[in-house]
Amino acid sequence: HRAKTQGGGFALVTARESLHDAEMHSLSSELRAAIEEDQLVLHLQPIVDIAADRVQGVEALVRWQHPRRGLIMPGDFIPRAERSGLISELSNWVLKRALSSAADLHAAGWPLGISVNLSARTLLDPHFPDALAELLAAVDLPSRYLTVEITEDTLMADQQRTLDVVTRVANMGVHISIDDFGTGYSQLAYLKRLPASEIKIDRSFVEDMLVSRTDLSIVQATIGLAHALELRAVAEGIETESQAERLRQLGCDYMQGYYIGRPMPEDKFRDWLGAWDLYHASAGGPAGPET
Ligand code: C2E
Ligand code: MG
Ligand code: MG
Ligand code: MG
Repeated sequence: HRAKTQGGGFALVTARESLHDAEMHSLSSELRAAIEEDQLVLHLQPIVDIAADRVQGVEALVRWQHPRRGLIMPGDFIPRAERSGLISELSNWVLKRALSSAADLHAAGWPLGISVNLSARTLLDPHFPDALAELLAAVDLPSRYLTVEITEDTLMADQQRTLDVVTRVANMGVHISIDDFGTGYSQLAYLKRLPASEIKIDRSFVEDMLVSRTDLSIVQATIGLAHALELRAVAEGIETESQAERLRQLGCDYMQGYYIGRPMPEDKFRDWLGAWDLYHASAGGPAGPET
């Protein structure tokens, strides 16, 4: 902080920082109430199987519909929930809601998978697998339809403990996905021991893959690595038709991004699914977004 070395600026910065702290503090106490009072909402973003040209599943992304501040994105409250010990309640809320959304979709004739993001904290908790088993037992949805997304850095906190929890979850038939792959501390030796089903190539690489030879190589190599390990390669953050087409050529398995569909509230997502189905049925046979 440059201002801190300049005498007079110090108080200003300190005041601003404590204001920020105070605001964050009130946010965490409000968050507790938000979980209880159902101010959280899940948005669903479609994930498409590229070769089959089919909606394979959805990723559940949490938002906080704050009564005064409006819609707050997860980047602005998940870290706070982690530090204030609210993350297990939040994870539980998200899982419960996501599983029931998926079960409702199944009942309505849409047998989609559901992917849920879990924090490192949650995966360090030895009680988590039992809690998850209870949630799964309470809903009419086979566990293979659930995918748990974890980031590489999640795995770094306490490798053995996390690996134990993740393995117990995988043994229940739940799929494990390595999210934002390539942006954290990837250890191939660890990846080898992880019972994962898929690797999600981070959006930052997809974003520049058509303009940067390096990013294209990284995307290509990650797809190759996934396939060599018999994992699915999933690309996130697809925003253009050219990116989608290139990923198809590279043999990427699944894709997700604004080009296909934005994260949407559940009712909007159902409308979106209906429209997708109509469009793809009328196109007749395998049709890519390019047709
Ligand atoms: P993520 O799991 O990598 O999720 C993808 C993020 O990229 C989402 O942001 C999504 O809205 C955004 N995105 C998807 N397609 C595109 C695209 O084509 N272009 C661009 N520019 N962005 C795209 P969001 O919803 O703000 O979530 C951010 C992160 O917050 C997630 O990253 C995930 O790590 C975390 N998160 C979200 N929901 C939860 C949750 O329920 N629990 C936990 N622990 N973390 C969550
Ligand atoms: Mg994710
Ligand atoms: Mg991701
Ligand atoms: Mg990401």
